[in-house]
Amino acid sequence: MPWIDANLCDGCGICIEECPSGAITMVDENAQIDMDICIRCGTCHKICPQNAARHDSEKIPEEVENNIKWVKELLTNYETEKERRGFLKRIKRHFLREIKVNEKTLEKIEALI
Ligand code: SF4
Ligand code: SF4
Repeated sequence: MPWIDANLCDGCGICIEECPSGAITMVDENAQIDMDICIRCGTCHKICPQNAARHDSEKIPEEVENNIKWVKELLTNYETEKERRGFLKRIKRHFLREIKVNEKTLEKIEALI
């Protein structure tokens, strides 16, 4: 899924003209994508002269850090080692479930082709 790197965007507006779903608007001289409207066509990646329309794979490290921050925050609610271990087991199950949901989704996407 695309996102705009505000440090690279120069506000030229080309992506706004080319986006087929009208998902991009200009906010404070930077393009911004409304992901509820974006149809994931990839056009903005191809046409941005500044390479400011980035791929979300670049955000994986940031998302992992956010997850770890969340887990650490929740962990502060548990005092004993036993409680903390129990919590960590449960939160691991939460992330394992996410993997399963994504794996099953990928299988079903393959079937759509
Ligand atoms: S085409 Fe690129 S540089 Fe121009 S407004 Fe869109 S994201 Fe910014
Ligand atoms: S991926 Fe396509 S629909 Fe989504 S913001 Fe970019 S140009 Fe618009």
